[in-house]
Amino acid sequence: MLIIGSHVGYKKDTGLVGSVKEALSYNANTFMFYTGAPQNTIRSEIDSNNVKEALALMKENNIDKDKVIVHAPYIINLANGDKDKFVFSCRFLSEELKRVTKLEMKYLVLHPGSHVGKGEEIGLDNIVKALNQVLDQDEGEVMILLETMAGKGSELGKTIEELAFIINNVKKKERLGVCLDTCHLHDAGYDMTKFSSFLDDFDKIIGLDKIKCLHLNDSKNILGSHKDRHENIGKGMIGLETLLDIAANKKLEDIPKILETPYIDGKAPYKEEIELIRKNLSK
Ligand code: FE
Ligand code: FE
Ligand code: ZN
Repeated sequence: MLIIGSHVGYKKDTGLVGSVKEALSYNANTFMFYTGAPQNTIRSEIDSNNVKEALALMKENNIDKDKVIVHAPYIINLANGDKDKFVFSCRFLSEELKRVTKLEMKYLVLHPGSHVGKGEEIGLDNIVKALNQVLDQDEGEVMILLETMAGKGSELGKTIEELAFIINNVKKKERLGVCLDTCHLHDAGYDMTKFSSFLDDFDKIIGLDKIKCLHLNDSKNILGSHKDRHENIGKGMIGLETLLDIAANKKLEDIPKILETPYIDGKAPYKEEIELIRKNLSK
């Protein structure tokens, strides 16, 4: 069965229960959320009663909690070696891992980081150093999913090889996985019409078992543009047919597919897009 949802809100007053309800309103059977605003570090205390209620609501509605995804905020940048930023990013990531554990979720998606002009090698080394530091001190089991990036600005994680370098150099490899993002891959230069050969390459370099999440997005820009601007399903440069093929790929059958497409006239498009994908795949 197709496991599909979108990113949903997480508000202080309604917590995880509110997120589940939003996902259900889109007829989704999974979802992704940030534990607060993605652009800032203001985080409210997690209420365990709210989590309990949310987990019960998920069970009732056949949402597998082990497929639900948490996304770390953008302000974590493990690639920037400047002492203050590095310490801040590591500390925030450690706290985020604890929050995900409290929420009883398994996966935290993370943008690997931007080297901000310091060079790719230094940036990648900083990411490795940070992940080793954070994971060495973390007793939990949450898996950090490194997201494939568009290569906008000085973003790292724009190639399979960069992600492989990070994973290969982190001691607790079992705590690392990958989140594919179709818009980012396309913008990074991977032709999504050749997705199965992309997966073959990925399997050789990293291993398919590391893929735990897929962000299903169209892209506003051409292949290799390095822009990272998401488009609604079927309205961009990747196109409906290719996105449907990816959603239906047997090798990723058990992987949650998450829409991060833009709102249309201030309204979430997820209910319609989920329906569009389901309808076409059941043909
Ligand atoms: Fe992301
Ligand atoms: Fe994404
Ligand atoms: Zn993006």
